[in-house]
Amino acid sequence: MALRKVAVMGNPILREVAAPVPLKEIASERIQTLIGDMVETMFEYDGRGLAAPQIHESLQVVVMLWDFDAGKEAYLKVLINPEIEFLTQKTSTYAEGCLSVPGLTGDVSRPNHIRVKAYNEKGEKTEFEAQGFAATVIQHECDHLIGKLYLDRMKDLKRLGFSKEYGRFLAQETTRNPRPEGD
Ligand code: ZN
Repeated sequence: MALRKVAVMGNPILREVAAPVPLKEIASERIQTLIGDMVETMFEYDGRGLAAPQIHESLQVVVMLWDFDAGKEAYLKVLINPEIEFLTQKTSTYAEGCLSVPGLTGDVSRPNHIRVKAYNEKGEKTEFEAQGFAATVIQHECDHLIGKLYLDRMKDLKRLGFSKEYGRFLAQETTRNPRPEGD
């Protein structure tokens, strides 16, 4: 495994649509090494999720720290070629940050109940539902696979700030989960 350089906003790779991983290649050394590098890089930069384009690989791979199940230990979740289905029109607003947009935090409203279909790191098909902040993190990461950043999803740029100032002035106004975290 190796630490990889994170692409930041302005780098065209963050605006590309990532290619799906051919299923027979999931077990390959190339993809397994990529997953390992993504995990190492995510932890190094204190992210809670990372998409492959963020380390200059335009492939549909997402890693995330899954710590949303109450009473259960956190574990890593790998989503390959993920598909999202929205199960509600209702949205929740959370503070989002991004390793590719360093130093900033902003409020984004996203549908708060989704179904996810993806392949895991072993090439097994997985399907699960996510709600609340977990649904937001998945949508944020999957947006990276279609060339979108959370800033594109913001309705009101007055709700964007440098993370420190966000914490001082804007966090109180965020209705739920005012956690400025990198993902
Ligand atoms: Zn991000």
